[in-house]
Amino acid sequence: MNSKLDTPITYLKGVGPKKAEVLQKEIGVKRFEDLLFYFPFRYVDKSRIYKVKDVNNDNAYFQLKGKISNLNSVGDKRTKYITAKFHDETGSIDIVWFRGLKWVKDSIKANTEYLIFGKPSVFKNSFNFVHPEIEVFSEIDNPITQQSLEGIYSSTEKLKNFGLGSRGISKIIKQLFLQIDNDLTEILPDYILKKHNLIDESTALKNIHFPSSPAIIEKAQKRLKFDELFYLQTELILNKKITKLKSKGHIFQKVGNYFNQFYSRYLPFELTNAQKRVIKEIRNDLKTGRQMNRLLQGDVGSGKTMVAFMSMLIAIDNGFQTCIMAPTEILANQHYNSIKRYSEDLQLEVELLTGSTKKSKREDIHKGIQSGNLKILIGTHALVEDTVKFNNLGLAVIDEQHRFGVAQRAKLWKKSNIPPHILVMTATPIPRTLAMTVYGNLDVSVIDELPPGRKEIKTLHFFDNKRLRVIGFIRDQIKKGSQIYIVYPLISESEKLDLKNLMDGFANIQHDFPPPEYLVSVLHGRMKNEEKDYEMQRFAEGKTNILVSTTVIEVGVDVPNASVMVIENAERFGLSQLHQLRGRVGRGSEQSYCILMSGQKLSNEGRKRLEVMVSTSDGFEIAEEDLKLRGPGDLQGTRQSGVLDFKIANITKDSQLMLQTRKLAETILEKDPQLTNPHNIIIRKQLQNKFKKTVHWGKIS
Ligand code: ADP
Ligand code: MG
Repeated sequence: MNSKLDTPITYLKGVGPKKAEVLQKEIGVKRFEDLLFYFPFRYVDKSRIYKVKDVNNDNAYFQLKGKISNLNSVGDKRTKYITAKFHDETGSIDIVWFRGLKWVKDSIKANTEYLIFGKPSVFKNSFNFVHPEIEVFSEIDNPITQQSLEGIYSSTEKLKNFGLGSRGISKIIKQLFLQIDNDLTEILPDYILKKHNLIDESTALKNIHFPSSPAIIEKAQKRLKFDELFYLQTELILNKKITKLKSKGHIFQKVGNYFNQFYSRYLPFELTNAQKRVIKEIRNDLKTGRQMNRLLQGDVGSGKTMVAFMSMLIAIDNGFQTCIMAPTEILANQHYNSIKRYSEDLQLEVELLTGSTKKSKREDIHKGIQSGNLKILIGTHALVEDTVKFNNLGLAVIDEQHRFGVAQRAKLWKKSNIPPHILVMTATPIPRTLAMTVYGNLDVSVIDELPPGRKEIKTLHFFDNKRLRVIGFIRDQIKKGSQIYIVYPLISESEKLDLKNLMDGFANIQHDFPPPEYLVSVLHGRMKNEEKDYEMQRFAEGKTNILVSTTVIEVGVDVPNASVMVIENAERFGLSQLHQLRGRVGRGSEQSYCILMSGQKLSNEGRKRLEVMVSTSDGFEIAEEDLKLRGPGDLQGTRQSGVLDFKIANITKDSQLMLQTRKLAETILEKDPQLTNPHNIIIRKQLQNKFKKTVHWGKIS
C-alpha cells in the first residue's frame, strides 16, 4: 500500500534502538506497518478537563489539570512506593507510583502545571490515581484546541517506562503519518466499497487513530474489519485450493460389493437424509484423485459411526485398508464394538489396538496390517506408533479431533506415499464462522438431523435445596426400570480432593439408595482399566441402577437403558461438556431427563450456561452461545491455529461481517479465479503483498 510501510521502526523519528526493542518485544511492532495497524481499543473525550471535586466512580477516565506536591517515599526497600498530592482549586487527590520511582523523583517538579489522565481507584474510602499518564501542560498542546477524541492504546509497564504509554504511542503514530506523507493507497476495488458502503482506506486508517468526529470511528472500524476479514477469507479459500492441488489422493473409482451388500441387505436401519447426503459428499471426494480432508460434524447420537463405516467400506471395496483413531480407550472400544457389529454379516475382520493390547495380540495385528490382510483397525494413538506399518492405508477416520494434535495427525498421513483420505469426526459442533476459519482447509459436512423416534431430552435445573425432590424422582424412575447416571465435576486442582468429593457423593447416594433394594456403581479416573471396565460392564448389563462417576464417562459410553443424567455442581461445567454429558442419555425409547444441580449462588456466566442448557438441545446453538460466553481463545482446538489473532475484528461480534466477506470472496474467486479482471487487480496485488511470496495463479482454477 505504501513502500515506506516496510521500514524498520527505528527509522521513525523519536524511536531509537531501545524503544524499537521494547516495541517489538512488548507488542510485536517491528515495522511502520505494524505500528499503523496497532489500533486504539477505546476512545475518550479529552476536550474535557475535570475538576478534582468531580472525580467519581462512574466515569472510567478523568483528565485533570493541576500541580503536584508532597512527594513522599514510603515503605522499606522491597515494598517501596511514592505518594504525592495532586491539587487544583477545588481540592486534592492522591497519586501513587509503585514503579519507575527514579523517574518520578527526577522529573516531577513543584509549581509546574500538569495534565494527568487516568482511571481513579478507591483506597481507604477515597479516590486516588495509580500510575496516571502525566504531561506538562502547555497552552500550545492544550487538548481543548486539539482534536477532542483521543484513542487509548493498550500499553505495558515496560513501554510506559520508555515513555510509551497510550499517549506516547499516539505521538509516534502521529509522527508515522508525517513520515509516510499521509500516503496510503486503496486496497479494495471501488465496486466493493460502493456495494458495501465502505469509506476509503486512507480515511479509515487516519480516523481510527485520530478521529475527526465520533461518528467516523464506527465507519473506520467497519472498513478495517472488512479488510481484515475479507483478506483472511480470500487467503483461506486460495490456500485451500492450493493445498488441494498439491495433495494427491487415492482414487476410489467404484462402489463395490461390500458397500452394496451392506446397503441392500444388512443396514440395521434406514439412513437419515443427512447421513445419505454426507455419504454422498464423501463419495464425491474419494473419486477426485485429491486427498480428502473432511470434517464431519454431528451432534451426539446423530449417527456418525455409520457414516464412517460406510465410507470405510468404499475404501475396502477399492482394495485399501482403513482405520479409526479415537482419543480414549473407552471410545476406541465402543467404536470397535459398533464396527464389529456392523461388519459381522460381511465377514470382515476388525481388530482393536490400544495401549493395553497384549503383546502377542499386538504382534498379530502388526503382521496383519503390514501384509494388508487386516482391512479394519480401530484404536487409540497406539495407531501412530512407528511399529504400525500399513500396507496401503486408504482412509483414516479420526474421532474427536480436538484431542489430537496436528502433528499426530500428520504422522498418520506419512504412513504411505500417497496420504490416506482423512475424515475427522467431531461431536462438539463448531460455530460456522469458527469452522470456516480455524478449519479453513477442511471441507465440512454436517449431520443436522437425528435418527427418527428420538424423544427430546427434558432438561431441568434444581438448586441443591430441592435435593429431596430429585431423589424422589430418581426412585420413581428406577421403579420404572430406568438407570441413572450421577456425575461429579472436577472441582479442585487436587485429584485426591476430587476423589473425596466423589466418594462423599457416593456415600450420600448409598445412604439414599441403600442395598439390596438399589445397587450403585462407581467410576473414576484413578481406577485401573480393568476395574473401570468391570464397573461399566455391570452398569451396561443393567446389574446396577446407578452409576456415580466423574467425567470419565463424558465420551463414548452407550447404555440405552440409562435415561436420567444427574449432573452435580453443574455450574462448574463448560457448556460443551454439559452437552456431551447430556448426550449419554436419550439413546433408548424411554423419555430421558437431564437434571442440573447447582448451588444457590451462581455467577452470571454460570447461570447463563444453565439457562442455555435448559432452553435448547441443539448442539450448534449451544456452540454459538459457548463462543459468545467464552470467546474463541478458550475453545478447544483454536489456540494453536493463530488465524484468530485479529487486529480489529472479533469472531463473535463480527460473525455477520465474516459470513458476508466469505461469501464475497467466494463469489469473486469463482468468477475470476486468478483475479485478472481489471476490477480485481487491486485484490490480487494486495494478496501478493500479504503472502510476501509468489502466488502461482496459473495453477488456480
Ligand atoms: P454419534 O457417533 O454420532 O454420536 P452413533 O453413530 O454412535 O452416533 O449413533 C448413535 C446411535 O444411533 C447408535 O446406536 C446407532 O446405531 C443409531 N443410529 C445411527 N444412525 C441411525 C439411523 N439412521 N436410524 C436409527 N438409528 C441410528
Ligand atoms: Mg460416536
